Amino acid sequence: MKIYNSLTRKKEEFVPLEDKNVKMYACGITVSADAHIGHAVQAIIFDIIRKYLEKRGYNVTYARNYTDVDDKIILNANKLGVDPIEFAKQNIVKVEKLMAELKVTPPTMNLKATENIDNIIEFISKLIEKGYAYVAPEGDVYFSVEKDKSYGKLSNRNPDDMISSVRIENEENKRSPLDFALWKSAKPNEIYWNSPWGKGRPGWHIECSAMNYYHLGEQIDIHGGGRDLIFPHHENEIAQTECLTGKPFAKYWVHNGLLKLNGQKMSKSLGNVISIQELLEKYGAEVIRFGILQTNYKNDINITDNLFSEAEKHMLDFYKVLAEVEKLNINSSKLNSVIDEEFNQSMDDDFNTAKALANLFGYFKTMKLKLAQKDDSVVEDYNAIKKTYSLLGLFTEDAKSFIEKHSLVQAIPAEVLELANKRLQARKEKNFALSDALREQIKTLGYEIKDSKEGFELNKL
Ligand SMILES: [Zn+2]
Repeated sequence: MKIYNSLTRKKEEFVPLEDKNVKMYACGITVSADAHIGHAVQAIIFDIIRKYLEKRGYNVTYARNYTDVDDKIILNANKLGVDPIEFAKQNIVKVEKLMAELKVTPPTMNLKATENIDNIIEFISKLIEKGYAYVAPEGDVYFSVEKDKSYGKLSNRNPDDMISSVRIENEENKRSPLDFALWKSAKPNEIYWNSPWGKGRPGWHIECSAMNYYHLGEQIDIHGGGRDLIFPHHENEIAQTECLTGKPFAKYWVHNGLLKLNGQKMSKSLGNVISIQELLEKYGAEVIRFGILQTNYKNDINITDNLFSEAEKHMLDFYKVLAEVEKLNINSSKLNSVIDEEFNQSMDDDFNTAKALANLFGYFKTMKLKLAQKDDSVVEDYNAIKKTYSLLGLFTEDAKSFIEKHSLVQAIPAEVLELANKRLQARKEKNFALSDALREQIKTLGYEIKDSKEGFELNKL
């Protein structure tokens, strides 16, 4: 099994640090607002990586964090006049509900920054003791980047070059512009915890290092997150942890690509984020998953108007075949093992879900052929697809209800449907003149009607 490692910039054979045990950590969500499609993509990808590792016989301990205190959370809570901790808690409840709807299995550990303040303070104290961090006059604590000789190895940057490009903040307190905050002193009327350096709260990067260290140990196998976290977040996590332990932090750094909306970067500041709720209501979990997983996780996903509607069309076609097989009522638990083997081959190659989904088109084509030829072995393909692809969260729904829910007929105006039914009746009565007239009338309303086995098919013109 091969994984692309961002640290070595190579695809490497996956060998865990300790036998069959895998420790995996993925940076989670800062719960300052409603979750968006980017959060969904990241959670789905690492959920699948975890499940595939488990399928391959590994015991996976998978931890994710919630950043439940930060500037934006405080700002947004203040705007609403609510307590920031309570605000973050409510957002976590909302996120977990959406994740369940997206069929994302909860990680082994859901860690929260606010529940790890003591761990974070201890971690920072150790860094100060070792000389890697210093307390600034206001009570802020900074990590001293120049003390870390390997700083920049993940993002492949040289600290000297970086100095010229960073935005300089708080310069009077920092010894070097590259230094980053481990502990931020509290501003007036701001939420705080007591620490040896006064009232304050943790910086963002330190929480992940501390949570890993105290909940997973000094070293982990896989550290994941979006590619936008490589610098500075993951670079800083490496600096904090490795300076403390003197050991390599994560063996494999796994980064997913970013989202684009019609070719444009998707970001809150551009105002073009899509909410998970909105997408779930429109398409449901399986269509969203199919749309997302058609792209290899490492690549950027370009969300277009067509991405999910095309995915829906494919899933609907697939489910129609599944429903036909179900009608045969064949009682067999036999599996076409080729389907599972090919799935594993795809996934062994750096979790290539794009290939695994592309294979589906061939399988369903064969199944249609087998159905036409009344070849009962079609049920073995059916069984294999249901079992194997459930790992990706696909084909877990009841075929009939999926078809009903997603049939395009649902979205067609009642007036058009009424005319279509009248025409069906006219055809049954062999009144072709009326049938043709109704076809024309339907056309003027923007739909094309075709005859089909089920009666008719309507398509938008
Ligand atoms: Zn992190």
